[in-house]
Amino acid sequence: MDHLTLPHHLRPRDGRFGSGPSKVRAGSMAALASAGPAVMGTSHRKEPVRSLVRRIREGLAALLSLPDGYEVLLGNGGATAFWDAASFCLIERRSEHVVFGEFSAKFAAAVGSAPHLDDPIVVASEPGTHPSPVPDDSVDAYALTQNETSTGVAMPVARPARDALVLVDATSAAGAVEVDPAGFDAYYFSPQKAFGSDGGLWLACCSPAAVARIEATERWAPPFLDLRTALAESRRDQTYNTPAIATLVLLADQVEWLLARGGLEWAAARSREAAGLVYGWAEASDFAAPFVTRPEMRSRTVATIDLDASVPLESLSAVLRANGIVDVEGYRKLGRNQIRIAMFPNVDLDDLRALTAAVDWIAERL
Ligand SMILES: *Cc1c(COP(=O)(O)O)cnc(C)c1O
Repeated sequence: MDHLTLPHHLRPRDGRFGSGPSKVRAGSMAALASAGPAVMGTSHRKEPVRSLVRRIREGLAALLSLPDGYEVLLGNGGATAFWDAASFCLIERRSEHVVFGEFSAKFAAAVGSAPHLDDPIVVASEPGTHPSPVPDDSVDAYALTQNETSTGVAMPVARPARDALVLVDATSAAGAVEVDPAGFDAYYFSPQKAFGSDGGLWLACCSPAAVARIEATERWAPPFLDLRTALAESRRDQTYNTPAIATLVLLADQVEWLLARGGLEWAAARSREAAGLVYGWAEASDFAAPFVTRPEMRSRTVATIDLDASVPLESLSAVLRANGIVDVEGYRKLGRNQIRIAMFPNVDLDDLRALTAAVDWIAERL
């Protein structure tokens, strides 16, 4: 089947639809090529790289409209490392986790195995839905996931209770959908998904309450995961150890690109349009349907679309791949006949239109 050749008009200009790592814009690559000689291969403790970090920290604060007193922290290791760091410096004794897919489950599991914390409360729901947090007096931190990348489910970012921190995994949402900073204390992400940069870093927008808790931490933490150190280094526009400088260049360029287009408001409107296009196509299709049945829970950045058994994912994705369209496979562990399509700001609406038309064309011929 993979010998099927898509007609030219059904070929997206860019075939990258992966949910992370996600499409990196040509403009970002050009920025990397031109900034490269001045920063690549130079010290992250010196001005050219530090000013790159400053652009990212200031750009994110502007993009997310962070109120005075909020600080942008960063470090190495991606969101996965931030979970472990949070277990030392942001969770005092007990956290509650809203679990509805692979990533939210991983944070809960990491905390569950930490000997220095009480067992977390886990509020879970079936894949394709999200649960609501349940206020509990014994909890000092609530862990939410704005967008479960594995299932394509989005949840609201709001405080479940007063007097507890709200830690939001925004890896596949930040920079692409709205958020009210009043609803979180740490809004953290890796930059290779919604932001279309490269992997290896974590960034966290922290409220004064989160900063205060980090500063008040008394327990030992592995130095690499110690947010007290990350806070001090970030304030100097540095990281504890050597960062991937290319990742910083791509992220700085992306943040400024978003700001130049109208910031979060522009990005969110664009995500709404993209989601309308993809879910609208699936709803009208006789072989495809949105996996998330409740429209209000559907992600506007990652669409999960179930396919009829007559359109096997393996054959479809083989044909797509042979035609330069990659990474639309659904999350492996969900075990469904499903495609997953990233609708991040970098993915062109015309390319999404071409993709859905290409899938129709292939489905007819399988
Ligand atoms: C990808 C992802 C992560 C993990 O990111 P890494 O950079 O691989 O550590 C965490 N949370 C969500 C929601 C993700 O999509």
